[in-house]
Amino acid sequence: MLGRRWSVPCGLSLPTTVAGRSNLPYRRTTGKLRLKAMVVHNPIAGEAAPVEDFSGAWHDFGRSPPDIPPLVKRLILEVKSLEVELGEKLVFGGPRGSLQGRAKAAEDHRHRAFYGYMPDREEKLQFYSARQVACRVLGCKGYLCKDCWLPLTDCMCAKVERVSLWSGVQLWLYMHPKDFLRKNNSGKLLWQVFGGESAHLCVCGIEEQEEAMWDALKQAGQGSVWYLYPEQGVSNTQVNELVLPKELAHTGVPRDKCKTSLNFILIDGTWSNSKMMVNRLQSRARGTWQDCMQSLSLSVDKHSVLHNLRPQPSLDRTCTAAAVVQLLRELDLREDLVGCQLEKAADALDEALQRLLEVLTTRRERKGRGLGKH
Ligand SMILES: [Zn+2]
Repeated sequence: MLGRRWSVPCGLSLPTTVAGRSNLPYRRTTGKLRLKAMVVHNPIAGEAAPVEDFSGAWHDFGRSPPDIPPLVKRLILEVKSLEVELGEKLVFGGPRGSLQGRAKAAEDHRHRAFYGYMPDREEKLQFYSARQVACRVLGCKGYLCKDCWLPLTDCMCAKVERVSLWSGVQLWLYMHPKDFLRKNNSGKLLWQVFGGESAHLCVCGIEEQEEAMWDALKQAGQGSVWYLYPEQGVSNTQVNELVLPKELAHTGVPRDKCKTSLNFILIDGTWSNSKMMVNRLQSRARGTWQDCMQSLSLSVDKHSVLHNLRPQPSLDRTCTAAAVVQLLRELDLREDLVGCQLEKAADALDEALQRLLEVLTTRRERKGRGLGKH
């Protein structure tokens, strides 16, 4: 079937040159990107090509919501359609498993043209994020483990001890799209160790995930939400200074009966990207609560064990999992959180971080790469 001349009809493919807005595949009617259904067919034979369903891959890698976001699905199919257009299988490779060869050039060309034409910053971010996520899902399906994000041959899931995190703590991994499905990302350890009830993935710019996160944050209330970020020159709250919601601070309430939760947002991205993400959070917080989101600082006193694999610019800029280890240890020292077994949870996450380091180190040595390289 490959090698035949296939095309995507009715102007559904992204334009190779942007001649006018009427050629664009999206129509903006209510401020959101509106998508059309995509059918790939052979105009000569008139037969429909089988369109692969990526819902399962989204469920595995994207985690939530259960249904694949329409824009991500659309872009997956757009990239996938290059196989029939170019008559060759898509090839993914390199350290980050990105698209290679002629398909990469074609994909870059048409998406860059489209991206450059979008006037709205929010639409640009959503398109950029969905494109990153779509390419990663496409390239990693059947290659990476859905939980540890390592190649199936190096899956470390069996080496990770799962423990329950006290339900009064909810962790939100707010991830930059470029970090999605990165092998050396440490944030993924949160759901490996604590499960999906306590650790949630939210990729910046994926509207459905951001809405789900904000629904939960609004329900928790502004006083129960913090983000972790070592901003210089800003007087952040320390863990021992946190004012806990009344229900949580009252030690007489059985821990398993407590319905209120402390919500911590972990900014997961490079340091330049994370500034943009914090600004995005704060902008949304001001629109929601007419006030800023509270920031939290940790007493970080050591490098992350991942430091050698993913160097951080300074001592207070540690990897995400190490930051959560530190957060849980500091929370455990509070008298009003006695009995929540947060130290035990911190130990389990610390152990998992060590296992990740071992696996990454072994992979690099096997591939002849030295430590310290990305
Ligand atoms: Zn695994």
